[in-house]
Amino acid sequence: MAEVLVYVDHVDGAVRKPTLELLTLARRVGEPVAVALGNGAEATAAVLGEHGAVKVLTADSAEFADYLVVPKVDALQAAYDAVSPVAVLVPSSTEGKEIAARLAVRIGSGIITDAVDIEAGAEGPVATQSVFAASFTTKSRVSKGTPVITVKPNSAAVEAAPAAGAVEALSVSFSDAATGTKVVSRTPRESTGRPELTEAAIVVSGGRGVNGAENFSIVEELADSLGAAVGASRAAVDAGWYPHTNQVGQTGKSVSPQLYIATGISGAIQHRAGMQTSKTIVAVNKDAEAPIFDLVDYGVVGDLFEVVPQLTAEVKARKG
Ligand code: FAD
Repeated sequence: MAEVLVYVDHVDGAVRKPTLELLTLARRVGEPVAVALGNGAEATAAVLGEHGAVKVLTADSAEFADYLVVPKVDALQAAYDAVSPVAVLVPSSTEGKEIAARLAVRIGSGIITDAVDIEAGAEGPVATQSVFAASFTTKSRVSKGTPVITVKPNSAAVEAAPAAGAVEALSVSFSDAATGTKVVSRTPRESTGRPELTEAAIVVSGGRGVNGAENFSIVEELADSLGAAVGASRAAVDAGWYPHTNQVGQTGKSVSPQLYIATGISGAIQHRAGMQTSKTIVAVNKDAEAPIFDLVDYGVVGDLFEVVPQLTAEVKARKG
C-alpha cells in the first residue's frame, strides 16, 4: 500500500495532538509513516503506533535543537527520499508551515497550507481549505510532484488504530544551510495550565465588551470550568487587556476548536478569519444586531457580566 509521510510535532517525546489528527487523515490516503526528530524521537513510537503509524523514522542530533528549521527539512527530505510517499502531511504550526514550504520547493512539489480536511481522490489527495476569511470553502489537489499538505489543528478526530509503529533509524546528512541560523536562547512561556490556543478543543474569547484587563477573569473562569484556552479580539489586545499571543484573527492565531465562545466580540471580518472554522460557535453580546450573530450556532443577547458568570456556575454545577 502507498505510504504517507507524517511529520511529528512532539516535545521531548510527548506527541502533540495535531500529529495524532494527521494520522487519522493520513490513513485515508495510505499507510502512515511518521518522521520524529530530536530529543525523545524514539519515545514517540508507542503512541504513534497506537494511532496508525506503521513505521516511525527517527533521528536525533544536536542540530535539531541548536538551529532553526533547516536541519529538520534536511531530515524530512531524507525520509522523503527513503520512502517515496504519495503525500507528506505536516501540522500547520508556524514551524510546520516553514518546514513544509521548504520541502515542497526542494522536491519541486505543489503545497497546500492550512487544510481543514483531506480525502482520497482518484488523482491524489484532495484538501479542503477555508479561504477569504472563511467566506469560501475550496477543495484543491496538487497537480505537480508529491502533495505536501499542512493541516490545521482540530481538523480531524484522534482515532485509535493499532499498527506496528516500528522504529527505524533515519540517516540524515545535513546541508550547508542547516547551521546557518543558530538558536541563541529559549525563554519558556509562563504556564497558565490552560491548553495551547491553537490546539484547544474549546476556546473562550473576550473582546472590547469585556471592558478592562481586570474583567478578563470572568472569561478565564468560564474557560477554566470548561478546560478551555482563552482568546481575545484585537480590540482587547490593543487595549492592553490581554497578551497578543492570545489574539484570534487575521493578524493573530487561527483556531478551529470544537466549541468557540465569543464574549463581547462584534464579529468583524478580521476576527472571523481566525475562528470561523470552529465546529460550534456561541456568542454572548448585548447588541442583537452584532454581526457575530450571523455565524453562530447559539447566540445569547445579553450582558456578558450577567450571562458569563451564570454559564460558569452552571458548568461547575453540572460537573459536580
Ligand atoms: P468591537 O467591534 O468594539 O465589539 C465589541 C462588542 O462587544 C460589541 O458588539 C458590543 O455590542 C459588545 N459588548 C459591549 N459590552 C458588552 C457587554 N457588557 N456584554 C455583551 N456584549 C457587550 N480583530 C481581531 O479580533 N483579530 C485580528 O486578528 C484582527 N486583525 C486585523 C487586521 C487588520 C488589517 C485590521 C484593519 C483589523 C483587524 N482586526 C482584528 C480588528 C477588527 O477589525 C475589529 O476592530 C476587532 O475585531 C473588534 O474587536 P471587538 O469585537 O472586541 O470590538
